[in-house]
Amino acid sequence: MLQPIFFVMNHSLALLILLFLISNPKYSFTQEYWQQEVNYRMDVRLDDENHMLDAFQEFEYINHSPDTLNELYIHLWPNAYSNGETALAGQISDFWRAKIDEISSPERGYIDSLAFQLDGISVNHSIHNGNVDIAYIKLLKPLLPGDSIIISTPFRVKIPSGSISRLGHIGQSYQITQWYPKPAVYDKNGWNPMPYLNQGEFYSEFGSFDVSITIPENYVVGSTGDLQNASEIKFMNNLAKKTENDLMTLVSKSNDGRANTPFPPSSDKFKTIRYKQDLVHDFAWFADKRYAVLKGEVELPGTRKMVDTWALFVPQNAKYWQYAIEYLNDGTYYYSLWNGNYPYSHVTAVDGTISAGGGMEYPNVTVIGNASSKEELEIVIVHEVGHNWFYGIIGSNERVHGWMDEGINTLNEVRYIQTKYPGNTRLSDMVLNGRFHLNDLDYHDMGDLTYRFAHTTGYDQPIETDSKEFSSANYGIIMYQKTGLVFYYLKDYLGDIEFDRIMHIYYDQWKFKHPQPEDLRALFESETGKNLSWFFEDLIQTTNHIDFKILDVSETEKGSLVKIKNIGQVNGPVELNVFNDSMLMESIWIEPGETEGFLQSNFSQITHVVIDDGRDIPEISRKNNTWRKKALFHKIEPLKFEFATGDHEADRSNIFWTPTIAGNAYDGFMFGTAFHNLGIPLQRFQYLVAPHFGLKSKSLVGIAEALYVALPKNKIKQLKIGSSLKSFTNPGVFPTRFIGFSPYLKMIFGDRSKKKTSYSYAELKVILQGDYTPDMALDQTHIGIKAKYLFTKEFKNTSFSISPTLTYYEQFMNIDEFGLLDFDRMFRAEINASYNIKFRLGDMKRYLKFSGYFGKNLMAKLATFDSDHQFLSMSGVQGSRDLFLEQYYFERGGVQQQMDGMGNFYSTSAVGTNRNWIASLTSYLALPVKPNVFGLFYNQGFYPGFEKVEYMYNAGAAFIIGDIFGLYFPLVRSSNMGKLYTDNYLKEIRLTLQFNIVANGFNLGKFIN
Ligand SMILES: [Zn+2]
Repeated sequence: MLQPIFFVMNHSLALLILLFLISNPKYSFTQEYWQQEVNYRMDVRLDDENHMLDAFQEFEYINHSPDTLNELYIHLWPNAYSNGETALAGQISDFWRAKIDEISSPERGYIDSLAFQLDGISVNHSIHNGNVDIAYIKLLKPLLPGDSIIISTPFRVKIPSGSISRLGHIGQSYQITQWYPKPAVYDKNGWNPMPYLNQGEFYSEFGSFDVSITIPENYVVGSTGDLQNASEIKFMNNLAKKTENDLMTLVSKSNDGRANTPFPPSSDKFKTIRYKQDLVHDFAWFADKRYAVLKGEVELPGTRKMVDTWALFVPQNAKYWQYAIEYLNDGTYYYSLWNGNYPYSHVTAVDGTISAGGGMEYPNVTVIGNASSKEELEIVIVHEVGHNWFYGIIGSNERVHGWMDEGINTLNEVRYIQTKYPGNTRLSDMVLNGRFHLNDLDYHDMGDLTYRFAHTTGYDQPIETDSKEFSSANYGIIMYQKTGLVFYYLKDYLGDIEFDRIMHIYYDQWKFKHPQPEDLRALFESETGKNLSWFFEDLIQTTNHIDFKILDVSETEKGSLVKIKNIGQVNGPVELNVFNDSMLMESIWIEPGETEGFLQSNFSQITHVVIDDGRDIPEISRKNNTWRKKALFHKIEPLKFEFATGDHEADRSNIFWTPTIAGNAYDGFMFGTAFHNLGIPLQRFQYLVAPHFGLKSKSLVGIAEALYVALPKNKIKQLKIGSSLKSFTNPGVFPTRFIGFSPYLKMIFGDRSKKKTSYSYAELKVILQGDYTPDMALDQTHIGIKAKYLFTKEFKNTSFSISPTLTYYEQFMNIDEFGLLDFDRMFRAEINASYNIKFRLGDMKRYLKFSGYFGKNLMAKLATFDSDHQFLSMSGVQGSRDLFLEQYYFERGGVQQQMDGMGNFYSTSAVGTNRNWIASLTSYLALPVKPNVFGLFYNQGFYPGFEKVEYMYNAGAAFIIGDIFGLYFPLVRSSNMGKLYTDNYLKEIRLTLQFNIVANGFNLGKFIN
């Protein structure tokens, strides 16, 4: 613990030092750092029949702060598992939420039998802020700066099912984590009480642990701390010898799946094993009777210090775990090399059969979930071992600044793979085992592509976002991956030597402490002497993106001059790599804010200049990164055609192609090819061109789409400008072909600092459509414009949306022979609203949805020939009323295929449809039966009759597959809709077929949130 240095110095010496600190820009005079200290002693006994822990705890709490404390907050995290109303239950949301509620109480967890004493005097505790996993204790007397207090309590923990979160058991395999009463951190910001959550787990006080565990003799335990009992050390060493001897047998059994290990009976005899550890802020242990044990050791860089490494695993996983010691050793070595030497005496990984994949870090010991390959096992082990540095030794506040541990840890993890396996193709290998043409994508690209995908869809959040405000996708993509990427960029810019030097200082200054983001920034800026606002502000605190392009390379008297332009939103540095054919001649960095750089290389030797050839800068686009001297267009990459889809290579223009077949009633069977650039990552300019030949119409038909994604900085998350083009043939008295051209603008709005619970967008769309007859005698022209706004808000189990739309539409007809021009005109206002209630029955997730619609033609001038499209449809939208050609119809002139929309009666009836107004209220219940395809509907509608407002209703059963396919069988309906069963019932069945993915925009964002 730090002692304030000024107390021990006389004034003149202090003044001298003060002057030195002020005059030396490398140090800034800030408030003296302090932190609290907690020293624990615990005894715990495992009851493996009832899955209970019986324990007693005593800890010394030392107040090193300058403040007098009157209260204590103590985390009781096992209570997070006690019911469906805890913060944990809320975070794991509808999927898990129900799980905690629904699981039988023996599977839930809790902590009880608490009886706190302060220096031997009993006190009561209360629940803080409704969180059953945070206790509040009022101190009996104030705890003065420098004073300490002893807090003690017995406690009992019911160990929950291991399927919920991290504390848990599966059978008799125990994962004892976040399990004991633990004071919240008190720091310069005050108390930091926090309920247990799955995301952003840790912020804890450093201190020492002395823990005795009593357990049936045949359990194998992996734990935080150094083992104190000679007998247990011998037990572990013997197990390690035995496993080493049996390893090949275990592996071969594991390979052919013969190693399914049942739990042996528990020994009647108990053993008490004791662990001690200083300078840690957490204590976890894992126990399983089946574990095989491997032991190794690793020498830390630059010293002769050896660290023991242990791998504890269930024999059935020997196939991959046979390599675990190598991974533990290499991880410990590289993290020590890059950050600072491991300060404890062992690193242990345990095979947590409990958690569903992934892993979890605790001091000295990490738990690893099921891995599906040895590569995955290595990554998880190295990542979790790495948390010994970023979480364990450097204890930042993960709840609020998660990037300081998960993100910086990801940097080290990615660097580890890239260092140990240079030239790896990890990402390419993942897709169809490398047979697919993803072009040499490595481990770093994995994070790079996922980040660019998230940003291009507009759903990313800043790295500096409170862990509990991250959407679960962004928690991984942004807080882990993007942080790793931006630190990779910083490392590349500063150079490995300089970066490592600063990280070692960070480690030395902040080990066993709680650094804040400003501490990390101050250190990097003072050590480099650079203003790093582009990094610590733009890249960490905003979603601003990086994009540089080369404008030109020219020969001057001074040398070769490269001009670049920053077309992104971050004023960062950029690296240029200069090549003579494949030989790298030179690399230079252009500093933030500068737009040109001089090369030493002779202009005549340069063949091409590339921005960031190593792909270390997380740029949103790399299409503008290459300048070629010889090419006619210096900045355009050679074309490369690839089947289906793939990745966009920095030095190629990748065009993907897919043969397609389609069909409709007029063109008949169509075949063609779709050419597009919808690869990974999504480009900001996206296109798809799909010409087809119709065998029946003998015509060239098809669709084309193009759009550009703008990513403004502020409240607009994403802005799309695009247009679609469609041409098919139409039936009718006069056979025609239509060509529709529809430009649009779409904007998504939202607040990035919060988890997404509301969503809104605005859309402006135009249609220009021509219907052409062969002799051009009866051509028609359609012009329309519509403005639509949509707002959706999601609550715990419900969601609400409202969407007003305004449409203006005109149609002209040129009747040439008669020299007539006929036209109609319409102005329409519509509003849609819906309310959706989600519910669960067992494991079935279903919903009940209410929708309301009101549409009115505020103006409707009729043409003499045909104004069919002016109708407000009560029964969904048939082809002729899809004014903006947004959907695909098998038979655009037909009535049986209807799209959801307008009155949305699930019927084929034309009753209610009129040119004035309609209103409807519909409800749909997704039935809780399996499979999830059956539903019931009830529709009610109003429309103007001849004398009065008419009412109609329609109810029946539905068979639907997602949003794509629906068959609706009306069973009863109002008499004004006509008799259902007298004519051909088949004609009353409404069909919905919507497979329009393209025209609705590439709305991939919804897969993220
Ligand atoms: Zn992690």
